[in-house]
This record gives sequence, structure tokens and C-alpha cells, in this order.
Amino acid sequence: LFAGDWQFFWASPSIETLPPMQGVEIAFAGRSNVGKSSLINALTNRNALARTSHTPGRTQELIFFKGPGPLDARTPELRLVDMPGYGYASAPKTQIASWTKLIHNFLLGRASLARVYVLIDSRHGFKDADNEVLTTLDKAAVSYQIVLTKADQVKKSALEQTMATMASSLRKHPAAFPEMLVTSSRDGGGMAGMRAAIVKLLRE
Ligand code: GDP
Repeated sequence: LFAGDWQFFWASPSIETLPPMQGVEIAFAGRSNVGKSSLINALTNRNALARTSHTPGRTQELIFFKGPGPLDARTPELRLVDMPGYGYASAPKTQIASWTKLIHNFLLGRASLARVYVLIDSRHGFKDADNEVLTTLDKAAVSYQIVLTKADQVKKSALEQTMATMASSLRKHPAAFPEMLVTSSRDGGGMAGMRAAIVKLLRE
């Protein structure tokens, strides 16, 4: 599945222009610069499927990528959805409000959406903007899981401490998966586990 041919499929700046629902969709959210594009590229074995390091604050779009088709007759097609990054320091309030509205509306109406992965930088843990996003996800009652990125940048002991703090704040979020995934796009850490988790979702 992940070794196959992944393609850009659709870009939508609003919920009026979304692609028809089909198969299973898995979305990726995270603060700007968290490593979202790098993770999508690493998962799909593509160097530049998702654009890395694009200018913060550019047009906010939901970007859809399509997998190489169903694994077998009983398994639906997989799509990955790259959500616009949030939380850049320079963003005006109106931009934050429009992000929240787009995402909230998308989450509420999307029956094909199986899971949202919320990416968090291993060095930083939760920031205020992340907590706001988790609350938005709770309200929409979408199942979501935390994915720690850039794990190659922190020592194991520091990561364990950050994860313990995060686990206690996650308990306040009813729609959150208690278990977190730890990844590094740089050294490939956690990638096999994440692919396996996605395949499992597809087969549920
Ligand atoms: P996005 O804005 O969330 O899409 O983030 P990008 O994927 O563009 O990554 C932001 C920066 O973090 C880039 O300079 C990447 O090279 C770097 N980066 C992304 N993933 C990793 C990782 O796993 N390890 C390290 N060390 N750097 C990473």
C-alpha cells in the first residue's frame, strides 16, 4: 500500500468544494513546521508528495492524496488528507477563526474520515494552539491520536517526561486515543508501526 503510487488528488479551500466521500480517509493536523509534510512523504515513500516548509499563512486548503487503490476486494481505498497548519505566531485572529471553522465543518460532515492524527513536536509537547485544536476535535467527536514527530531530536529520558505530561493532559480529552505514536521522518523511526496502524484502520 505505502510502496505503491501515491498521487495528489484534490485541494479544497472550503467545505463546499470537497471531493465526494469515498473509501477511508485519514487526516493529518499539526502546528506549522511540526513536520507534517515530511511525515506524509515518509509514510508514502515520496520525496515531495506533500510540500515541505511552505510559507506559513498561505491559502488554507485541505489537500487530498490518493493511494494506489484497494489492497484487496474487502479493503476500501485509502486517502490521506493534509490539513492546513495552524498556530503560526504571526497569524491574525481572523485567520485562526477561519482555520477553526474550516476544520470544524470538515470534521462534522465527513463520514469517510476514520481518524485524525494530530502531530506534536517531540521537543515541545502541547502548546496552547494544540489544546484548542484537541477541543475542536472533541466537540466533533472524531477519533484522534497523537503522533510525536522529530523524535530523533530528543533524548529518550526527555521524551518520556514530555509524554508523561502529555498523557495526563490527554485524559481531559474524551475523543483522544490514550496511546501516542512516536515517529521520526529523518531516521524512519515509528514509520512501520504507523503504517500498520493505518492498515488496521482500513480493515476495521
Ligand atoms: P510542516 O510545516 O508541518 O509540513 O513541516 P515540514 O515537514 O515542512 O518540516 C519542517 C522542518 O522540520 C523542516 O526543516 C524539516 O526538515 C524538519 N523535520 C521534519 N521532520 C523531521 C524529523 O523527523 N526529524 C528532524 N530532525 N527534522 C524534521
